[in-house]
Amino acid sequence: MTKTDRRTFLTKAGILSLTAFSGVALLQACGGSPEEASSDSPSPKPAPAPAPAASEAATEAATADCDQYNSNLAESDLSVRESVGYVAESPEADKICKNCRFYQPDKFEGACGGCQLFVNGAVAPGGYCKSWAAEA
Ligand code: SF4
Repeated sequence: MTKTDRRTFLTKAGILSLTAFSGVALLQACGGSPEEASSDSPSPKPAPAPAPAASEAATEAATADCDQYNSNLAESDLSVRESVGYVAESPEADKICKNCRFYQPDKFEGACGGCQLFVNGAVAPGGYCKSWAAEA
């Protein structure tokens, strides 16, 4: 092997090494693993479905009908709710009455709770308002 041939060989070997390393690094950055890339399996395994009981409980809590406790609220009570933008279904999944520091879980029977900001009426565990604050 001549000196020029050896240089050419080392250059090509270096390029191949960099290509292989970049491919593995890119695959890992995308959440895969080199084992998955070399697998003979033609399709990836599907993600496991959430447990039905847990998701049903979350849905039930989020949509609890608390209006039954709010049918006779005074105008002043309603205006307080409106001023903080209370809604029975939170638009933000991680910010709900149930995990708010002002939530009172034992104020009503069943799934509905109270709110320290509201003198009267119930709030849904999956509700939300602009005064939401994380539990201390
Ligand atoms: S402050 Fe708002 S988010 Fe918190 S419990 Fe009361 S109504 Fe729900």
